Amino acid sequence: MTVQPRIGLEIHVRPVTKTKLFCTCEAGFGGRPNTRCCPRCLGLPGSMPKLNEQAVRQAVKAGLALGCEIPSKSVFVRKGYSYPDLPKGYQITQWEDPICRDGRVELSGKKIGIFRIQLEEDAGKMIHDRGACTLVDYNRCGLPLLEIVTAPELESPEQAAAFVKELIARLRKYGIAECRMEQGGLRMDVNVSLNGGERVEIKNINSIRFMGKALRYEIGRQRELLEQGGAVSYETRRYDERQEITVHMRSKEQSPDYRFFPEPDLPPLLLSREDIAAARRELDQTNHG
Ligand SMILES: [Zn+2]
Repeated sequence: MTVQPRIGLEIHVRPVTKTKLFCTCEAGFGGRPNTRCCPRCLGLPGSMPKLNEQAVRQAVKAGLALGCEIPSKSVFVRKGYSYPDLPKGYQITQWEDPICRDGRVELSGKKIGIFRIQLEEDAGKMIHDRGACTLVDYNRCGLPLLEIVTAPELESPEQAAAFVKELIARLRKYGIAECRMEQGGLRMDVNVSLNGGERVEIKNINSIRFMGKALRYEIGRQRELLEQGGAVSYETRRYDERQEITVHMRSKEQSPDYRFFPEPDLPPLLLSREDIAAARRELDQTNHG
């Protein structure tokens, strides 16, 4: 059976900034656990977020580098979920009004669409101590992230890998992000469907090599299902690096209800033509070929 895969990517990239997205805690990698936190990034009652202008500038530059439109207004929302790595109980992110939208990247003559780029905050990091206990480090909590969402227009694992490499090259060239995967500076969720069927999402892949393996396994699994007369249904899976397989996480019915609503502590983000022109000048100055 010949199959036509359609692959889309959601790539989380940590932009280069001095401080976190909504407070003045240091944004570097690592540090002694729980030493780079404050009432704001821990979401303590009464603390108010203050938007980091450098992170906004980096997001606009990423949009320009990926051929996006930059709307004059974008909106932050609360995405509710309950997990120990997120002390507030919600993440501040963007949804229907992202900072950048409708981009395009050319890859060996083929145009790959970018649906949107969202500016959002990262969660803390859980450390599972061999079943004995779980520790949590909030140094990463509140670091800025750019979530770059592509259209499902990539046609093979090789093309998906080439796209991520091109993205990394552009973000590094313009000083937008270092994309250090070993530091969690670039993480990927991928989705894949065959022959126009339902898509399956694979969460939290942290290297291009594992992305290729996960996609090849998943395409093989779905093809086998179709060949046996079965149907693929929408689900979220994860990649098991040791066994080199994808594993079921949850079905559509089990998807969490995020209860999105506009973030009441942040006004809509307004960008003037001058703001966007200044970001473009910064790009031109860092473009040395
Ligand atoms: Zn802080």
